Amino acid sequence: MKLTVLGFWGGYPAANGATSAYMVEKDDFTLLIDAGSGSLAKLQNYKNVMDLDAVVLSHYHHDHVADIGVLQYAWLVQSYLREAKEILPIYGHMEDQQGFASLTHECTEGIAYDPNKELKVGPFSITFFKTDHPVPCYGMRITDGENVIVYTADTTYKEAWSDFANGADLLITDCNFYADQDGSNAGHMNSKDGATIANEAGVGELMLSHLPHYGDVTELVREAKQYYNGTIQLADEGLVWKK
Ligand code: ZN
Repeated sequence: MKLTVLGFWGGYPAANGATSAYMVEKDDFTLLIDAGSGSLAKLQNYKNVMDLDAVVLSHYHHDHVADIGVLQYAWLVQSYLREAKEILPIYGHMEDQQGFASLTHECTEGIAYDPNKELKVGPFSITFFKTDHPVPCYGMRITDGENVIVYTADTTYKEAWSDFANGADLLITDCNFYADQDGSNAGHMNSKDGATIANEAGVGELMLSHLPHYGDVTELVREAKQYYNGTIQLADEGLVWKK
């Protein structure tokens, strides 16, 4: 199971960067988790766009879905060039009817996931956890049957996260704020919140993502180390986690 960070910025992409998008691979199956702004360009540093097998979305905020439209155009253009039509499944929740409807296009099909049920996608099984965020949003626990990646998507801190993330090999947290800032009004977490979950859940490794555009982001790691003893990494473009 291999995860590659394509985008990690919160809100909007920094110059030449991308917002939330993670590529998860197992055998020949490639899954995209969220499709933030700039992520289609970044994905092509590693894969042909037609190598994608499925997309799963946490919620419909622009910094998580901005590149869905151009991904649909890419698959449409490629269907002409290749003279073969393939359909890319894009999984999303149905609590935003307009957002969900936008997932279906000529070469993509929006498929609703039931957040209360396990979703099977290729070699992966995904379970969902409703986050606290201004719009309906779901964190994910993704496993290939051997290892587990938990992605908080966008959320404020809540105690139940430690159960959901329990024993994960990798925890990717929303870290949009520094430890001395309260992110809860904005629907996000700070470095302390993420590290607290990592510690309580006993995860193998912590990755801080959805990063702020100000301050020294390496400070987030120093702050998180006060609450979690394991390995902590800052999400970065092209960063690979493999197990
Ligand atoms: Zn959001």
